[in-house]
Amino acid sequence: MKTFYAEEQKRHDPKAFLSSGAAQPNPEQPERVERLLAGAEAAGCEIVRPRNHGLGPVAAVHTPEYLDFLEHIYTRWQRIDGASAEVIPNIHPIARSGSYPASAVGQAGYHMADTACPISGETWQSALWSAWSAVEAAEVVMSGAPAAYALCRPPGHHAFADVAGGFCFINNSAVAAQVLRRTASRVAILDVDLHHGNGTQGIFYARPDVLTVSLHADPVRFYPFFWGHADERGEGSGLGYNFNLPLPRKSTDAAFLEALEVAFQRIRAFSPDALVVALGLDPFEGDPFGGLSVTTPGFARIGEAIAKLGLPTVIVQEGGYLCDELGDNLTAFLTGFDGKAR
Ligand SMILES: [Zn+2]
Repeated sequence: MKTFYAEEQKRHDPKAFLSSGAAQPNPEQPERVERLLAGAEAAGCEIVRPRNHGLGPVAAVHTPEYLDFLEHIYTRWQRIDGASAEVIPNIHPIARSGSYPASAVGQAGYHMADTACPISGETWQSALWSAWSAVEAAEVVMSGAPAAYALCRPPGHHAFADVAGGFCFINNSAVAAQVLRRTASRVAILDVDLHHGNGTQGIFYARPDVLTVSLHADPVRFYPFFWGHADERGEGSGLGYNFNLPLPRKSTDAAFLEALEVAFQRIRAFSPDALVVALGLDPFEGDPFGGLSVTTPGFARIGEAIAKLGLPTVIVQEGGYLCDELGDNLTAFLTGFDGKAR
């Protein structure tokens, strides 16, 4: 299948990251791209550079206030005496009951959920190209390809309509779903990342045209903590169109595949015209986050099972961090999906 990726996506190189308050190297490293490209090539994918699709498809799911912030905050931050090299928030509005701030520090706190998404001079362009990879994968599927893979990096599923978080800036899976909506009446997003797709859930929470389903490590003691619980079902006309399947920590292939069948039942009942798979490879047993225990052959079985839904499918890369098997896990998923699993 076609794989979309632009080299600009590699330029974002975040340094800072706090884990339980301790400073650690940021795990969302540019090196991930090399491993994922090798994994896609090993699965027989053709790597294609996307075109510049402008702001339109991104602005369809993000607020103009937020996009203006993402584009210009790095330059504004540099004018602050003694500021950090990367934009990192240090104050957040509780429940956002106050006013929209005018200052760079205030806006960083308003538009950034945590310290895991530092913004450098390269971030905006990298995030845009990552989104354009998703746009073009969606367009190829709309033109009749059974599936396409968007090698999106930076990832996207923790980004809300106006908030960055968890290594994510532009919600690539949401962008792809919205592009598919040009021709599809109903689109389902199936998020199999280790972490709950809280940004994607937030973007579509009040909408009945996009079903959001997420399998992930139980957020009771895991990022993103505030979202991903089974009782979050949507709101307004979107009530009943969000479905969360939190899994116990260290769940194995069998438990993951069993939960996937429950997800499929809901997706079939929604009868979508197209599917977006938010593909995190961090449920892997050897991923540095260590939340779930899916194996490399397990990813092939997950890919195979999703393909059996028989829907036009856009596969969007989300998480999955540096470990020896990162590329192999992508190969396993894609060959499983293509029915060529070995
Ligand atoms: Zn993740």
